[in-house]
Amino acid sequence: MPNPSADKLALFGGTAIAEGLTAPRWPVPLEGTAKRLAEIYMSGQWSFYGSVEQAFSQEFAQFQDAKHGIFMVNGTVTLETALAACGVGAGDEVIVPANTWIATAMAALYLGATPVFVDVEPTTLCLDPAKLEAAITDKTRAVIPVHLFGGMPDLEAIMKTAAKHDLAVIEDCAHGHGGKWAGKGTGSHGIIGSFSFQQSKTLPAGESGICITSSDEMSERLFRLKHIGYAPGTAQGMATSGPPEGLLCHNYRGNEFQAAILQDQLPLLGERIARYNANAAKLEKRVREEAPGVRVQSRGRLAGPQSYYCFAMVFDGEPLADVPLDRIIEAAKAEGLSFISPRGYGPVYKHTLWNVPPKQYRIAKEGCQVVETIGTERLAIFGHSVLGADDETIEAIGDVIVKVARNAEALKA
Ligand SMILES: *Cc1c(COP(=O)(O)O)cnc(C)c1O
Repeated sequence: MPNPSADKLALFGGTAIAEGLTAPRWPVPLEGTAKRLAEIYMSGQWSFYGSVEQAFSQEFAQFQDAKHGIFMVNGTVTLETALAACGVGAGDEVIVPANTWIATAMAALYLGATPVFVDVEPTTLCLDPAKLEAAITDKTRAVIPVHLFGGMPDLEAIMKTAAKHDLAVIEDCAHGHGGKWAGKGTGSHGIIGSFSFQQSKTLPAGESGICITSSDEMSERLFRLKHIGYAPGTAQGMATSGPPEGLLCHNYRGNEFQAAILQDQLPLLGERIARYNANAAKLEKRVREEAPGVRVQSRGRLAGPQSYYCFAMVFDGEPLADVPLDRIIEAAKAEGLSFISPRGYGPVYKHTLWNVPPKQYRIAKEGCQVVETIGTERLAIFGHSVLGADDETIEAIGDVIVKVARNAEALKA
């Protein structure tokens, strides 16, 4: 068989080897859910901690190995309420990785607290536990490790440092549905785990989110925080006790329609991410063995299975290290890999939407060199739905990466 990867790049007039390759549809609607949504609509029970929300919250918490689930309107307010439940407020500091969606840091700002950015590991692209301790001050109250794309932060090391300094650990699992660390569900290691069910996530409902916890005390605080102060299980208008003094409660409620979509999707999640993991492993092997200069983001020491919100590749080895990222992406796109996008989030403090005055946040003294270099200039990702594609598509993606890597010299010229 001829080896297509040795051929001239399509970018330079060669034959494109993956023309017409498309990402599978996302999200995937279910007929049964459409009927169910109509039934809920006709029932008139649309919100207010209805039976579907109650059932789903419990099922999801159990699925992630936690005792309680507190359903909310999105995965940004879940982070905010998680911090609030832990007592974080004005003047406190919250440590977050510099490489994440801006919501992780915004959560601290909403409470008048100061986000402190710490660098990530070059392998997992998640919070570097070795750089955590140096960023802790007497104002630090919490740390939010993020399970990024398809990598997991070293939870053991982070929990150990956090325990030593009496910090709350809140896991941001917006990319972590169904993932496990050391055989135990994401979000069940820290005191609270926060998930988003926004449309792009691996368990989607358009919008909504959930906090999980095994602490009865945190569960009650979280419920009051999102339900304008009502105690868990209290019907609307039937409050018999109020929230603790000073706990500023909101209406952050999700609704029955979202919970129904999620309840129908949850039984499919295990198989979905099993397929993602199998295909990610295939691509990883292919890249490792045949694509010099390219590496795949590490899953993390004790991670498995992973949720794989994205499949992330780093182009920082020879002979690709000197080829500009945009050039690599251009070459991959010319071969037919239309859905690859350069860069991940980059440092939060340089994001286009980040408009926070410098005095309201802090970058750890050591700086965030890995995010500034690898995370910005050497990283490319594609969305998780691609990992659900058929064998032929996965093979074709591998072909493109291999072909581009083997033509590094031509790309440099
Ligand atoms: C999506 C996301 C969030 C926020 O979730 P929303 O439901 O979109 O508000 C938080 N953290 C990370 C890492 C995310 O990717």
